[in-house]
Amino acid sequence: MGLEITTTKLEDLANWGRKFSFFTYPFITACCGMEFMSVAAPKYDIARFGAEFPRFSPRQSDLMMVVGTITEKQGPALKRVYDQLAEPAFVIAFGVCASTGGFYQNYSVVPGIDQIIPVDVYIPGCPPRPEQVLDGIMLLQKKVAEGRTHNQVRERREALERRERQNEGA
Ligand code: SF4
Repeated sequence: MGLEITTTKLEDLANWGRKFSFFTYPFITACCGMEFMSVAAPKYDIARFGAEFPRFSPRQSDLMMVVGTITEKQGPALKRVYDQLAEPAFVIAFGVCASTGGFYQNYSVVPGIDQIIPVDVYIPGCPPRPEQVLDGIMLLQKKVAEGRTHNQVRERREALERRERQNEGA
């Protein structure tokens, strides 16, 4: 019991740190990229949310922002980059193309990146306004603090399964 309380408190502390230190990997493929640059510019001061440092190596990032249209051909590359992110990794679908395929109703465009990787926050708009992006980041911060993102839930489930297996073996 005591160990569980200590573990929970440590996790809360780690999540508090995570929510104020996103290291973003921008996976930019299309016109939404202009809006990403705008958010990263001084006017919107994304540093207030601890998310101002883009990293161009997935191994140094824990937040993937998929910015723009993803075609079927790009799908495997997106998955490969996602698999290299530091754990626990978070994903934001930036704009309607990344979220749903947007107005591209054709065979070559993926109808939403959640067909390929798990998504924690969807930001609507074509393109989204910078204020919407900041709103999306704040929503992600809330989910991270509460441990409700896909990877945090998966990690907890795996830890529970491990403990159950150990108890069965004991
Ligand atoms: S959502 Fe609109 S602005 Fe963004 S990539 Fe798609 S078409 Fe371009």
